[in-house]
Amino acid sequence: MPILRLTDETIGKIAAGEVVERPVSVVKELVENSIDAAAREISVAIEAGGSVLIQVTDDGAGMVPDELSAAIERHGTSKLTSFEDLSTLTTLGFRGEALPSIAAISRFSVRSRPPGHDAGAEVIVEHGLVRPVRAVAMPPGTVVTVRDLFGNVPARRAFLRQPGTEATYIGRMIGAYASAYPGIRFRLTHDGRQVLATDGQGDQASIAIAIHGPDFAGGILPLPALESALAVPGVSVSGWVGLPSLTKSHRQAMHFFVNGRWIQHRALGFALEEAYHSLLMVGRHPVATIHLTLDPAAVDVNVHPTKAEVRFHDERAAARAVQRTAHAALAGAPRDHLPTVSWERPLNRSDDHSRPLPMAIPTLPSLPPADPPPVDHGPAHRTEHPSGLPMLRVLGQIGASFIIAEGPAGMYLIDQHAAHERVLFERIMGQLAGQQVDRQPLLEPMVIDLTPEQLAMCDRSRDELAAIGFEVDSFGDGAVVVRSVPAMARGGNLAGRFRAILDELVSGGNGTSWLEAVAISTACHTSIRAGQPLSIPEMRELVGDLERSEHPRACGHGRPTMIHLTQDEMARQFSRR
Ligand code: ADP
Ligand code: MG
Repeated sequence: MPILRLTDETIGKIAAGEVVERPVSVVKELVENSIDAAAREISVAIEAGGSVLIQVTDDGAGMVPDELSAAIERHGTSKLTSFEDLSTLTTLGFRGEALPSIAAISRFSVRSRPPGHDAGAEVIVEHGLVRPVRAVAMPPGTVVTVRDLFGNVPARRAFLRQPGTEATYIGRMIGAYASAYPGIRFRLTHDGRQVLATDGQGDQASIAIAIHGPDFAGGILPLPALESALAVPGVSVSGWVGLPSLTKSHRQAMHFFVNGRWIQHRALGFALEEAYHSLLMVGRHPVATIHLTLDPAAVDVNVHPTKAEVRFHDERAAARAVQRTAHAALAGAPRDHLPTVSWERPLNRSDDHSRPLPMAIPTLPSLPPADPPPVDHGPAHRTEHPSGLPMLRVLGQIGASFIIAEGPAGMYLIDQHAAHERVLFERIMGQLAGQQVDRQPLLEPMVIDLTPEQLAMCDRSRDELAAIGFEVDSFGDGAVVVRSVPAMARGGNLAGRFRAILDELVSGGNGTSWLEAVAISTACHTSIRAGQPLSIPEMRELVGDLERSEHPRACGHGRPTMIHLTQDEMARQFSRR
């Protein structure tokens, strides 16, 4: 077969395919260039999700006309002169491929004027065809304009999502960079509407609010420096993690930066989620912006065409550093971050991380005088448990689902299911740690039919289930026989509960180990349900158990166990202040 040399145009398009997958890839390359040019202000305008227009304007170092011509040449870069430079690289770019690649598949222009120069220059490239550089009037900085992306690559264009979806990807990417570079002012507009803006004042908290919404007021935990015993040599970690109560249903809000570069890295994501431990609900993921700083020689950035992935020489060390630092931040979190009822802003939040709570004013059942009201005897006789929860006096139950209780600091509304789940989870983990599991043999072993998925999960988790108290044998024909259950399991329909545990595990489970995942699911599905009427002594016992637990404020899945309405808040509601 004759071997032909490809035309430059074809080479350009093929190369562009590697760097430019979709509009967000273009925006990322251009924003990284602006950051490398030391811009203090970066504005991004897109139209129709970026397929009609992408324009990135910065106030950075700019380029003189000769540099402009070189910049759009393939492998034209000012950031690298030899391969060895890669090990000391401090810029985000180095391949010299972005501008020519983008220019090969769009109608493209760069205008640039270095500060201190009188005029700017512009070069236009139409689908790879370069027009002569000409002078233009413009303020200092650089403007890159990309129109009609993939106009000459219809196959790629056909793969684009709805403009709204492409815009979402771009918004997340800008959000990531804005939170990682709080000293730069970022602005994003889509079809003329402002989507995101930060002030460049360097304040992490206000940027988190600008990006993730008003719930993040007070919602971020700065990452502390690790004490020397825990520090991981060669890796330093900074940034912030969100409170466990502010989670997302996707992993796209966990942002990792390695030496300033935004990267995707599964192991780091796992390490972060591990730090949240049992504080996360199944299917929920943390929000975080985490910087890792390492010797550039300890990380290979040249493993991915869009530089979106890196390879650590010691990946475990990097993951360990993330996990420990995030854990330290979460452990130091204010104890009292349980949701407080705010009547001005109902808990019905914009994002999907909390179930709307009906805010009807509860009517109390008339009750015989129960416990004596809690009295605060001052620091010498603390009415607080080591858990940080005050002693509570149970007043009654609402809707057979919520326990209403009084403490020195106002009213507490406790979700009986979540509370019991927390108590059982800690009890299971305690028994496992002490290697003393209370199992209750069933007088009549129970045969349970399972779906093939449940059966496979049951096989996989046999050891963990046994450790917790479920003795299970296979019974053939898609069934198992359960001979014992954890002694703490209550109530009827054990078969249904057992299936529910397996179903939750099939959908991924939750926890830092499989054993913990099984424990969390077991606690959830063997605990008291919503809708179950409880007597006052039963409620007192449950609340007492909760007070004594180590982390009383969230169930194993991270759902809050209680809401607190302070005395002040009540007084305000009745216009007493
Ligand atoms: P790389 O970033 O890998 O060097 P690019 O193709 O992205 O390659 O850019 C080529 C060169 O153009 C850069 O090395 C830089 O010198 C110059 N450049 C690109 N964008 C800008 C900008 N916004 N401001 C100043 N110089 C820029
Ligand atoms: Mg670049």
